[in-house]
Amino acid sequence: MARGAGMDAPTDRFGRPLRNLRVSVTDRCNLRCHYCMPEEQYVWLPREELLTFEELSGLVGIFTDLGVDKVRLTGGEPLLRRGLPLLVRMLAQNPRIRDLALTTNGVLLAGHAQALREAGLHRLNISLDTLRPDRFQHLTRKDNHAQVLEGIAAARQAGFRGLKFDTVVVRGANEEEITDILEFGKKAEAEVRFIEYMDVGGATQWSPEKVFSRAEMLEVLGRRYGRIEPVVEQGSAPAERFLLPDGTLFGIIASTTTPFCRRCDRSRLTADGIWYLCLYAQDGIDLRQPVRRGISRDQIRTTIVSAWQKRNDRGAEERRALGSRGVFVPIQQLRANPHLEMHTRGG
Ligand code: SF4
Repeated sequence: MARGAGMDAPTDRFGRPLRNLRVSVTDRCNLRCHYCMPEEQYVWLPREELLTFEELSGLVGIFTDLGVDKVRLTGGEPLLRRGLPLLVRMLAQNPRIRDLALTTNGVLLAGHAQALREAGLHRLNISLDTLRPDRFQHLTRKDNHAQVLEGIAAARQAGFRGLKFDTVVVRGANEEEITDILEFGKKAEAEVRFIEYMDVGGATQWSPEKVFSRAEMLEVLGRRYGRIEPVVEQGSAPAERFLLPDGTLFGIIASTTTPFCRRCDRSRLTADGIWYLCLYAQDGIDLRQPVRRGISRDQIRTTIVSAWQKRNDRGAEERRALGSRGVFVPIQQLRANPHLEMHTRGG
C-alpha cells in the first residue's frame, strides 16, 4: 500500500499506486480526428449499457475510497453526454477527489463552460491541434474551428484558470504550427502540451514516419526561443514540463519515443463500465455487471484491489521495445471489439 493524501492506495507489481482514474462518459465524438477516428463507420456501445450518473458516481466513490484522488472525465467527447454538469456536481461533492478535470475538444464548450464551473469542475484540457480553420476541417472532417475558439474564450470567462491545450503533433499535418500554438497559449494563459502521435487502438493511419518526436519538438522550439530548461518534478503526470527563457511553461507527452509507464498510476473506466489498467490493454474488467447485479461495494472493492495488485502493464514501453512497429490494432479487430478504440476508453 502507498500512502498519500491520508489514504492508502493499493499498489501494483511495480509499486505504482492506484491514484488516477479517467472516466469516459460517452464513446461518441463530434469530430473525426485523423489520429483517433479516421474511419467512415464505427461500432458504438449500446446505449442501454452506458452507466447512469448514479452508477458512475457510485463506482468512482469505490475508487476514491481506495485512494484515487484524481478524476478526469473524457469521451469520446464528454460534452455530448446529456446533462454532464449534473455528474460533475455529484463528483464535486466527493471530498476525496482532489483534482476533478475534463478533457474536451471544445466544440460545445461555449454552451457548457459556465455550468461546468458552477457544478464544481476544477480544471479543463482543451484539444487544439491547429489555429487554421481550413486545416482544422482537413484534420477533423468538421467545420467547427470557430466554436473551439469560442469555447476557449468562454472557459476563461467562466473563471477556469490553469487551462491546458492538448496538441497532438503529427509530421506532415501540423508540426510547423507548434510555435504559433505556444504563442496562442501564452495569450490565452494556457499551458500547451504537445503530444506525440501514438499507435493506440483506433490510430489506423499511424506509422513511425508520422511521429514528430519530443526531440524534434525541442529542437524546433529551441531554435525559436533559445535555451529550454526541463522542470524537475516528482509525480506521475504524463507530461514532462519545460521552461522557456521568458518563463513560459509547456509540456511534452512523449509516450511513443520516451514512455513513462514506470510511474503510471492511471486507469480507465469506459462509459459502459469496463475498467482498463492500461491504454494498450487488450482486456478490461467488467464493473457494470457487478453494479447492476447489486454486488456489494466491498466485493467490488476487492475485485478492484486484486486486479490492481496483479497489474504489470507497461504498454507504451513494450511497444517502443518492438523492432518494427506498425498499427497496433487492425481495423477488423476494432470493428469486432470497439473497446479497443481509444475513443471508447478515453485516451
Ligand atoms: S502505456 Fe499503459 S502503463 Fe504505460 S503510461 Fe500508458 S496507460 Fe500507463
